[in-house]
Amino acid sequence: MRQVEFRMKLIERLIQVTGCNPSTRRGPFPKSEENVVRLTGRHFPSYVDESESRKKSRKCVLCSLKINENGKRVRRESRFECKNCNVGLCVAPCFEIYHMEPNL
Ligand SMILES: [Zn+2]
Ligand SMILES: [Zn+2]
Repeated sequence: MRQVEFRMKLIERLIQVTGCNPSTRRGPFPKSEENVVRLTGRHFPSYVDESESRKKSRKCVLCSLKINENGKRVRRESRFECKNCNVGLCVAPCFEIYHMEPNL
């Protein structure tokens, strides 16, 4: 879980930086190996069964990047995860988007 939190903070930062100033987009972000794995590795949605999901409740990382009309973060539980990336994801469309979008 800690790794997920770290990653989300990183993503948040990237979005903030790239969001308000597009010219910094190329900026000094080293392409992490993790990123390469996310985009090129083999990834399959894996079902988190009830007993597991109670221990570690999975939230879709992609949905939780979104902000709803109240300005609050969308929190969407997902019963699926990518074991390779160790993140929760909706099967569709988030799973695909997450693994296709290099600028997350
Ligand atoms: Zn989602
Ligand atoms: Zn993955």
